[in-house]
Amino acid sequence: MQIIEQIVAMRAWSENERRQAHRIVFVPTMGSLHEGHLCLVRDAKTRGERVVVSIFINPMQFGPSEDFAKYPRDLERDRALLENLAVDVLFHPTVAEIYPHGYQTHIEVENLSLSLCGAARPGHFRGVATVVAKLFNIVRPHIAIFGEKDFQQLQVVRRLVRDLSMDVEIVGHPIVREPDGLAMSSRNAYLTAEERQAAVCLSRVLCKAEKRVRRGETSAAALLHGVLAELSREPLAQVEYAKVCDSESLHELDRIQGTAVLALAVRFGRARLIDNRVLKN
Ligand code: AMP
Repeated sequence: MQIIEQIVAMRAWSENERRQAHRIVFVPTMGSLHEGHLCLVRDAKTRGERVVVSIFINPMQFGPSEDFAKYPRDLERDRALLENLAVDVLFHPTVAEIYPHGYQTHIEVENLSLSLCGAARPGHFRGVATVVAKLFNIVRPHIAIFGEKDFQQLQVVRRLVRDLSMDVEIVGHPIVREPDGLAMSSRNAYLTAEERQAAVCLSRVLCKAEKRVRRGETSAAALLHGVLAELSREPLAQVEYAKVCDSESLHELDRIQGTAVLALAVRFGRARLIDNRVLKN
């Protein structure tokens, strides 16, 4: 596996691979890799001849009071995990390489960025859209894979690619969970043992809600009433939002007709966890 830090070197590598008609599949990450990330990488390997994984903790998507400085970092471990999966390139640029002195260009996916996590994290999706566009310009992938765990991020990226006519196929990968149902996340490392146990309530309420919809519940209010009642029974859970939205526009829905997404953001101590379930009736 090659480790590339410079934009020019990454571009040269991609250009060379493209000339040989190799399909480049790209998995952007912020590192501190877990099995969820590794599933995306395995998926990537089935979709093309070359796989690039980036590790870049993007300061632009963190708010001033968020965890950028404390975000878990373990490059040596990450490198070994990716080497094991025979990834072709680990792209690991510095912040100065991505945002050189005088940087002033941003990309805003307007409406999709306002709701759900965007409401609590102003500027977050502007940072995500900007770095994803930059990474696509540097890595020049044919396909890029994103996890459905960050459901709003996936929709923002799909919209970005459509709106700017980018020549990249976006693939969503299902949420990868721990055996007890907790969605894998680098931020799970922040949980104390007690909080870790409590956090299982997220996947539990999503499963129950899914069952209710399958049995015919169509009222978002009724569904959310049940979700919030159950979350309120967990004293360590502080709900930031629980919403039923259209799965593409992310507009809040009153009725579930066809496909919707139930999205949650809940704090457990210093960990802010998100999870979601696509509901179909
Ligand atoms: P992150 O390093 O948290 O920015 O995540 C990098 C990519 O991995 C994003 O596309 C995430 O949606 C995806 N991802 C993270 N955790 C999971 C998970 N548990 N299941 C599926 N995808 C995930």
